[in-house]
Amino acid sequence: MTDWKINLYRPELTAAETAAVTEVMTSGWLSAGPVTRDFEARFAAALGVDDAVAVSNGTAALHLAVLALGLGPGDEVILPSLNFVSTAAVVSLCGATPVFAEVRGDHDLCVDPADMAARITPRTRALVAVHYGGYAAELPALAALARRHGLALIEDSAHAPATPTPHGVLGTVGDIGCYSFFATKNLAMGEGGAVVARDPAVRERIRRLRSHALTVGAQDRHRGGPSLYDVDALGLNYRPTEIACAIGRVQLDALPAAAQRRQEAVRAYRRALAGLPGLTLPFAGHRVEDSAHHLFPVVLPEGTDREQLQERLRAAGIQTGVHYPPTHLFTAYRTRLGLGPGSLPVTESVTRRQLSLPLHTGIGPTEVEQVAEAVSSAWQPAR
Ligand SMILES: *Cc1c(COP(=O)(O)O)cnc(C)c1O
Repeated sequence: MTDWKINLYRPELTAAETAAVTEVMTSGWLSAGPVTRDFEARFAAALGVDDAVAVSNGTAALHLAVLALGLGPGDEVILPSLNFVSTAAVVSLCGATPVFAEVRGDHDLCVDPADMAARITPRTRALVAVHYGGYAAELPALAALARRHGLALIEDSAHAPATPTPHGVLGTVGDIGCYSFFATKNLAMGEGGAVVARDPAVRERIRRLRSHALTVGAQDRHRGGPSLYDVDALGLNYRPTEIACAIGRVQLDALPAAAQRRQEAVRAYRRALAGLPGLTLPFAGHRVEDSAHHLFPVVLPEGTDREQLQERLRAAGIQTGVHYPPTHLFTAYRTRLGLGPGSLPVTESVTRRQLSLPLHTGIGPTEVEQVAEAVSSAWQPAR
């Protein structure tokens, strides 16, 4: 592993997380139990909703969302190709067909509602909005589109836990919102996730599916409830551990201060990189306060050698990333769906040129200056 001077991501873990884990270890209950329930209540309160279901990871959250909607063969789900692959995977694993839509362009890496609208067919059942990097997708337009066609709106809010925006808290506007608490995410548990749903019946179906669709949970049996249970659906084990949720409670308390620090880093980045010819800072038109800033993406001018730029930054000890390769060009999807280069020109162009710079709570003015300096000195836009 390279010893980076400036990491792309870095979770902030303190003595409080260690103490919380130790407390669980001495409690005698390690899987979803009272700490999980308390984390759910607190996370829901942070979002301003009634309740949430904590799960083992963000992919599980998305899988439970598509299962709860009953999606299957013959159904189509429209989602951006520019996303982490797990959303397309869970749609496909349910037997439904992912239909990939374009993002808006260099200035906005969220899905284009007009392009989504153009892909709606009589088979379409759901739309997926991804809040790329923590920036809100166009929720009013997407919610209106879903309503007009009687479709479910799923928000992949993996990049945006507890993020208020003028159009609502991200993940709570559509029918189902999915969150990830993976090790690199803003709220890091190692592995973890959560689901919220507008309809309490859907939320409780998700809670049931999370634990084998048992009508009586292990905790209830442990507490002396009925020892026999029924199974009323095909469920999975997507429960989180108490250890993860104990870390999550501490991380959740730290989230507002962490969000402030991310915002300050982004303000500094915007100032430091403003002068580079041809460099696009996506979402520059969004108010800094309205994003979770999971990523700090930049889009390089056409013709720039991204790998060479990454190599130069690597030599300076600066870790960068690409978010993401377009899903529709992965072997599994292009062969399954008959897609190829040229199917989604906007997405293909932007994903060739996107680069993520380091962003986490340890990025202060000094680190921003170092990164900006390294980018500037390596900057050789194609002529
Ligand atoms: C991380 C992530 C996921 C998957 O979450 P896991 O917890 O890693 O399973 C899904 N969508 C997006 C946008 C993500 O960033």
